[in-house]
Amino acid sequence: MAVNNQPHKTPMPEQDPQVRATNFDEVALGYTVEMAVSEAQRCLNCKTRPCVEGCPVNVQIPDFIAKIREGEFETAYQIISGTNALPAVCGRVCPQENQCESRCVRAIKGEAVGIGRLERFAADYHRTQAAAQPTDSIVRNGHRVAVIGSGPAGLTCAGDLNRLGYEVTVFEAFHTAGGVLMYGIPEFRLPKAIVQQEIDALRRSGVDVQTNMVVGKVLSIDELLEQGYEAVFVGSGAGLPSFLGIPGEGLLGVLSANEFLTRINLMKAYRPEYDTPVQRARCVAVVGGGNVAMDAARCAKRLGAEQVTVVYRRGEAEMPARLEEIHHAKEEGIEFRFLTAPVAVHGNEDGYVTALECVAMELGESDASGRRRPQEIVGSNHTIDVDMVIAAIGNSPNPLIRTTTPGLEANRRGCLVVNEDTLQTTREGIYAGGDAVTGAATVILAMGAGKRAALSIHEYLQGKS
Ligand SMILES: Cc1cc2nc3c(=O)[nH]c(=O)nc-3n(C[C@H](O)[C@H](O)[C@H](O)COP(=O)(O)OP(=O)(O)OC[C@H]3O[C@@H](n4cnc5c(N)ncnc54)[C@H](O)[C@@H]3O)c2cc1C
Ligand code: SF4
Repeated sequence: MAVNNQPHKTPMPEQDPQVRATNFDEVALGYTVEMAVSEAQRCLNCKTRPCVEGCPVNVQIPDFIAKIREGEFETAYQIISGTNALPAVCGRVCPQENQCESRCVRAIKGEAVGIGRLERFAADYHRTQAAAQPTDSIVRNGHRVAVIGSGPAGLTCAGDLNRLGYEVTVFEAFHTAGGVLMYGIPEFRLPKAIVQQEIDALRRSGVDVQTNMVVGKVLSIDELLEQGYEAVFVGSGAGLPSFLGIPGEGLLGVLSANEFLTRINLMKAYRPEYDTPVQRARCVAVVGGGNVAMDAARCAKRLGAEQVTVVYRRGEAEMPARLEEIHHAKEEGIEFRFLTAPVAVHGNEDGYVTALECVAMELGESDASGRRRPQEIVGSNHTIDVDMVIAAIGNSPNPLIRTTTPGLEANRRGCLVVNEDTLQTTREGIYAGGDAVTGAATVILAMGAGKRAALSIHEYLQGKS
């Protein structure tokens, strides 16, 4: 067996930073066959399989990598898709550095095996090269389940229940299914055609996806139960943005990252053939340090901003964004002001933003999240001249579902309370998972929750019949 002892990952071909900062095409171009096989040869096929323990959906990593090494790319894909419903998505957006790759023994003396890059390679091979597989006909069991929300949690839960023979209807509030994969994460990180293909495949396999259906407005969970759905999964995400809570927040040019990104990704404001209005600014400040902040900053740059500054109250090491996104943002010319927090937005007499006033911070004791708490340095006020401020400081679940469903309890952050093992909420037959339960988290954790809930719903309904 050929072994590649290079300490570093096989580099990922990418669009040139100067060029890509002016377009919305995908940044990372994907491995060629030769690159994928060479990277797969870095895997030591460890007996203890530590990388598998780091994967929330238990992908059999050494096995699929071995198949890539042998040139059996479709088999590699089949191994991944045995436990992961969205490999092409996860290969692109999962924070592998905190999960599988953080456990890889190769990382002890160099870089981890590029597990995410290889996952993406196998998924893309399947999408573009493999012959369409006939879908196995599913024997229906006569039970109906409603899934609320079509993000990774809802899609995974729906897919697993469908395979088990349930008649599943997904109710999605937006006109397009996919959740954050469609409305939040930009095209240049996750092409929408890939997400659409996954949704089309789910529909073809028998899942009914109904869009423009805001549960809690068009119809309630109790009405769904009255209509004959025997169990409900709530995967409604965390789409309610937090605001800065500082003077001047109402000025024209201050907006949430959610609104900015939805206009761009879901409503295609960056494409001339679409009428969606979006403000284009010369100097933009993005407040926050997560993936949402990186996406908003990079979108602002692509819309033509000359200067985009990320303002983050902790240091670079504390940033929750994926390392790759921070690296790509820097390459594209995004500036960073660490240990800086906004205190006021200033505007002109017409009500438009002109500057963001900030203070310098220093890190004190660790807080409940284990990160050191930022503290203001008194008298350090300074301003950044901007004509747009984008708040990307967090999201929480929308209260609509919990306020229209009697008996559904939520914690003080507005997240639904569930039994940790079964994911059943405080109402029998109603389950929940993903960001609606955890608050803003990750795609793979939402998928893991969707899987677990599907199994619990199956056990619950089998127990009833
Ligand atoms: C800009 C951005 C970038 C991100 N980048 C990454 C990344 O790189 N890697 C990563 O792992 N994670 C990333 N995340 C986080 C990740 O996308 C989420 O954790 C994940 O999508 C949560 O999945 P979910 O299914 O719980 O919810 P969502 O994806 O939010 O889907 C919930 C769906 O429910 C629908 N819905 C809500 N209320 C109702 C209702 N009342 N009736 C019907 N439908 C309803 C919503 O419209 C939405 O489509 C990012 C998030 C954002 C916002
Ligand atoms: S830990 Fe790393 S080297 Fe070992 S099997 Fe997993 S991917 Fe391969």
